[in-house]
Amino acid sequence: MAHQWRGIIAEYRDRLPFGDDDPVVSLGEGGTPLVYARAISQRVGADVHIKVEGANPTGSFKDRGMTTAISQVKQSDVQVVACASTGNTSASAAAYAVAAGLTCAVILPAGKIAAGKLAQAIVHGAQLVAVDGNFDDCLRIVRELTDEHPVALVNSVNPYRLQGQKTAAFEIVDALGDAPDIHVLPVGNAGNISAYWMGYNEYAGKTTLASMDDSALHMEPVATKVPQMWGVQAWGAAPLVLGHVVDNPETIATAIRIGNPASWKYAEAARDDSRGWIDRVTDEQILQAQKILAAEAGIFVEPASAASVAGLIQAAEQGKVPEGATIVCTVTGNGLKDTATALGDVDLDFTPIEPTTAAAMEVLGL
Ligand SMILES: *Cc1c(COP(=O)(O)O)cnc(C)c1O
Repeated sequence: MAHQWRGIIAEYRDRLPFGDDDPVVSLGEGGTPLVYARAISQRVGADVHIKVEGANPTGSFKDRGMTTAISQVKQSDVQVVACASTGNTSASAAAYAVAAGLTCAVILPAGKIAAGKLAQAIVHGAQLVAVDGNFDDCLRIVRELTDEHPVALVNSVNPYRLQGQKTAAFEIVDALGDAPDIHVLPVGNAGNISAYWMGYNEYAGKTTLASMDDSALHMEPVATKVPQMWGVQAWGAAPLVLGHVVDNPETIATAIRIGNPASWKYAEAARDDSRGWIDRVTDEQILQAQKILAAEAGIFVEPASAASVAGLIQAAEQGKVPEGATIVCTVTGNGLKDTATALGDVDLDFTPIEPTTAAAMEVLGL
C-alpha cells in the first residue's frame, strides 16, 4: 500500500517541540510537490525547482505553522484563537480552529483581502473584524487584544508557527538529497524566510536565532550545507530592502503588503548569515512571473508567490545567478485564491457557437 503522508508533526516529530502523547491537530499539511521547472531553468541558466506550497490543505504554506500553533493551543484551556491577516493566515487559522473545535477571530485590513481567502474564513465560520487600516495596524490590535484576554495569538510572532514552517526546508533536503545552493522566497512579515533558514540549519546540525532549543546539535546532520537565502519584497512594501518601516505599504501582492515585518531581526540574520540578499521587484515583474509560472511551468500561484520567481529572473538579468546552481523557489500560495488579479482585464464574454463539432473545429482552426 502506498505511504499516506501524515502531516508535518507526525512526519517530523523528533525535530519539533511535540512529545509522542501531545495532541495533534492536522489536516495533512506538508508533503508538497517540488517540481523541476525546465523553462525557468533555461531562462536563468541554473537548475530551478519550485516548492508548490499552494498544494497545502487551505492553499498556502500557512498550514505548516497552523498545525503546530493550534496543536500547542490544544495543550491549554484556551478556547479562542485570533490572528491579524492579509488573508491566508485567517483562511488557515479558521480551518484548523474547526478541526480543533476552537473559535477563531480574524482581524483584517478592510478591502485588501483576495476574495478566495475571505470566502475561506467565512465558510469555516471565523468571526471577522475588518479594520480601516493596514496589516500592521491589525497585528498591533490583535497583539493588544491577546495580551489582555485568554485568547491565543496564532500569527507568526507565535514561535510554534515558525517551528511548523521550518519543515518545508526538511522536505526539500529530503527530496534533493542535500540543501540547494540558493533558496528564493517572497518576504512579507518575514516569518517564512526565518523558518526556512532555521530548518536548513537544523538539518545541517546547527541552530539559528529563531530555534526553540538546541536538539539539532545532538542529532545526526541530514544536510552537508545550508543555502544562500534570497528574499524578495514588493517594490512598494520593501522595509527590509530600504532598512526602515514603510508607513503605507502598497502592492498588488496583498499577502506581502506589510510595512513593519514582525520577524525583522530573524530575516536580517538569515540574509547576512547565509551571505544572501533581500531585494525588491515591481508589481509588473510579479504579474509577469505569475504568467511565466502558469504558462511555462504549469503552476498557478497567487501574486505574492510569484515574487520569488520575479526576484530570481531579475537576479539572472543582473548576472547574479551562478551558472548551473541548484535553486529552489518557494511559491507560497494557490492562484485560485485571487482569480480577479490573475485575469486582469481578460474578456470573459465568449461568443458561443452552435453545438456542433464542425463549429468547434472552425473556432480552433482545425
Ligand atoms: C504569508 C504569505 C507570504 C509572506 O510570508 P511571511 O512569512 O509573512 O514573510 C507570502 N506569500 C503568501 C501567499 C502568504 O500567504
